Amino acid sequence: MEPFFDLTLKELELLLGACGNERYRAKQLFKWVYGKSVFDFDLMTDISKGLRKLFKSMLYFNFLSVESTKRSCDGSVKFGFKTEDGYVVESVLMPEKDRTTLCVSTQIGCKMGCKFCVTGKIGFIRDLTAGEIVSQLMTVKRLVGTKITNVVFMGMGEPLDNLKNVIKAIEIFGDPFGLNLSKRRITISTSGLVDALRTIPQKSCVIAISLNAADDEKRNYLMPINRIYPLHAILDFARNYKPDKRSRITFEYVLIGDINDSQEDALKLADLLSGIRCKINLIPYNESPYIPFRSPEEAKVFAFQKILLRKGYTATIRKSKGQDISAACGQLGSHYLR
Ligand code: SF4
Repeated sequence: MEPFFDLTLKELELLLGACGNERYRAKQLFKWVYGKSVFDFDLMTDISKGLRKLFKSMLYFNFLSVESTKRSCDGSVKFGFKTEDGYVVESVLMPEKDRTTLCVSTQIGCKMGCKFCVTGKIGFIRDLTAGEIVSQLMTVKRLVGTKITNVVFMGMGEPLDNLKNVIKAIEIFGDPFGLNLSKRRITISTSGLVDALRTIPQKSCVIAISLNAADDEKRNYLMPINRIYPLHAILDFARNYKPDKRSRITFEYVLIGDINDSQEDALKLADLLSGIRCKINLIPYNESPYIPFRSPEEAKVFAFQKILLRKGYTATIRKSKGQDISAACGQLGSHYLR
């Protein structure tokens, strides 16, 4: 039996075609499953009984089993899902007035070892399959019954270190016969793996690069990957990144108390990004008992933002969601460290 959430539309067409079915049957199934959230072949009424029986013998819906659900006072929900081989991956649902965003994980653990991140402390265990990535969304969708309008690849793992499966998941998320999420509603957040960034189809998603320092010395300390992809390589990529007229690249900057949150850091960052059409997302660091860093003072966060605004940048402060349930940025995966 084939796991449904692992298959792109093309792969499903090939699979069904190999048993003598017409191509449009795959589209029908995509519409039922992703469009109407129907997971029982017997309820797919425009498909004959014989075919439903055949599909039931060929395909299964590989939902993840729910290990835990934690609700934050701000409305976000952290889900712990168990994989078939017994690992737990986390996803965070963030309902807002005009959108509902799901933050998905792409790996169990991570190789990048960013100093401020709990997942980085776990080390790397394994990549998630495309089906396990898609299934995070489908399992949440089935549990809460709400439409998920946006997906961010900002959970456990470095998405571009699992490129093949992430690209496949994006193809499934964006399929017009399926969830039909537009490019502007899918964001990949990366520590800056420039070679992989160059291979992402430019119109498939929004790119956010996690910068966190404006000089190589500090970035080497916070993000060891900077020794392989230093700032000049990232900026070179960003300068040439022009998927269309409206799109801008996003830089994320986690503000850590007394580490990278000074006015000097802000001025350096403004100089560094000079001439690049971009948006800067400032993320006040979320403390964790496993990491010896502090959150920045609120006044310093605003002062940092003010400098960037004065220099003409679009700079926003991201309100951290789910801090009380360890679901905020950089906090996922703490159960592996207990
Ligand atoms: S911040 Fe992202 S890339 Fe860095 S260690 Fe954490 S999960 Fe990995």
